[in-house]
Amino acid sequence: MARKLYIKTYGCQMNVYDSARMADVLAPLGYAKTDSPDDADMVILNTCHIREKAAEKVFSELGHWRKRKEAGADLTIAVAGCVAQAEGEEILNRAPFVDMVVGPQAYHRLPELLARAQRKRDAGREGNPQKNTTQKGPMQKGPMQKGPMQKGLGVLDTAFPPESKFDHLPEALANPPGPVGFLAIQEGCDKFCTFCVVPYTRGAEYSRPAAAIIAEAERLLESGASEIALLGQNVNAYHGEGPDGQTWSLARLLRALSDRFDGKYPGLRWRYTTSHPREMDADLIAVHGDLPSLMPFLHLPVQAGSDAVLKAMNRGHDADLFHRIVADLRAKRPDIALSSDFIVGFPGESDKDFEATMALVRAVGFAQAYSFKYSARPGTPAALLPNQVSEAVKDARLQALLALLREQQLAFNAGMQGRVLDVLIDRVGHKQNRPGQMLGRSPYMQSVVLEHPGLEIGMRVAVQITAGYLTSLAGNVVGTPILPLNREAA
Ligand code: SAM
Ligand code: SF4
Repeated sequence: MARKLYIKTYGCQMNVYDSARMADVLAPLGYAKTDSPDDADMVILNTCHIREKAAEKVFSELGHWRKRKEAGADLTIAVAGCVAQAEGEEILNRAPFVDMVVGPQAYHRLPELLARAQRKRDAGREGNPQKNTTQKGPMQKGPMQKGPMQKGLGVLDTAFPPESKFDHLPEALANPPGPVGFLAIQEGCDKFCTFCVVPYTRGAEYSRPAAAIIAEAERLLESGASEIALLGQNVNAYHGEGPDGQTWSLARLLRALSDRFDGKYPGLRWRYTTSHPREMDADLIAVHGDLPSLMPFLHLPVQAGSDAVLKAMNRGHDADLFHRIVADLRAKRPDIALSSDFIVGFPGESDKDFEATMALVRAVGFAQAYSFKYSARPGTPAALLPNQVSEAVKDARLQALLALLREQQLAFNAGMQGRVLDVLIDRVGHKQNRPGQMLGRSPYMQSVVLEHPGLEIGMRVAVQITAGYLTSLAGNVVGTPILPLNREAA
């Protein structure tokens, strides 16, 4: 009988990709994905460690699943992702009812881990008749806390080399990707920004060979994707081995993918995320002008506008380089929509430094952006800096930055009024009382709300935009909705 797998994914698109791969790895063992946590025989929490109190949030979520086990559910609980990598054994110590802790580089070993966890549980039950899967005892004493505890029966795998993960992930896509296919081409980071945990949780930069990426793109397209997002923590640092034995850059890879697939899949669109300004070379910028299938959208985190802060962050670029990249990109692709990440209140950030961030935002003009208050991440160099900024100052700066960014986003969206955009339908609308409502994405990554009979997920439609709001566009379908050719094969 099929067993149900529920995956809760936190954080970045790389985690979304990893979750899909974990489901593919477990499919041959009879696990089918479910969207309903109540049906689950196995739950995987695919965690993110970027934000403050990430581990505490995971332990609090685990409390919910512990209750289900205590109520007698035959449930396998796995913690994956960057919190699993960072906390490791601590999770098994504090939450002994967890069956598996698996780091981001070990997902291909999930079947083996599952078998080992099962064996350990069986042996534990035999060796200790009082013990059962609910693991009462330490957990009855109250919240999960540090301190002496009965050792759990879970298994741990946080070994590191990423190449083995990609070498051993299954070729077949057990789960169709939907209209947008996520494709990891690069993983890890060697940049060591002083605020960031990623180099510690995801390990060193690794680029997959181009042939493996091309093959995976083909599988995604054959399975029904009509937009492909190339992913990596530092995606534009890609330097993988090409089929010709040379080292390929991201620019070269994009040109090869476009050459190979654009003709066969009309309307296909490409994008890539997340990029680093240091790696935006002239060839990659040129690709934005050369390839019509590359979406006119780029997420390029700058973090701050002050050179002193950028230096303290170890970003390896200054504000001027960012401005030059933006000017070059706009020269090649004048309509490109820019997105970014900002951190306010980095240690030592003065009012003048923050004003430099505001000035950069005013000068560039962003279509959308993410802003965060700096949060000290244990183990990162910035956490040890003496001149931490107060919460009150961080709050005030965040509000000022958000207000400016919202103004720009609204202006960008409102400027779409009257234009006809190619929209890919990718979700059902939220409005319960409007059953026909569907949501799609424009080439600039805006949400487009549509009410039109006969629309289906995966369709492409030309939409005349009637209004632009802060987070979405409204419009009317003009012309006939098209199901992509590859849907036939889905
Ligand atoms: N690799 C990307 C880059 O270089 O910009 C982004 C990586 S991170 C997953 C996404 C964003 O989280 C970062 O761009 C940064 O703005 C934010 N972030 C990371 N660490 C943070 C911290 N300690 N405090 C606040 N924001 C943080
Ligand atoms: Fe983190 Fe910096 Fe690497 Fe991005 S480039 S993942 S922010 S260390």
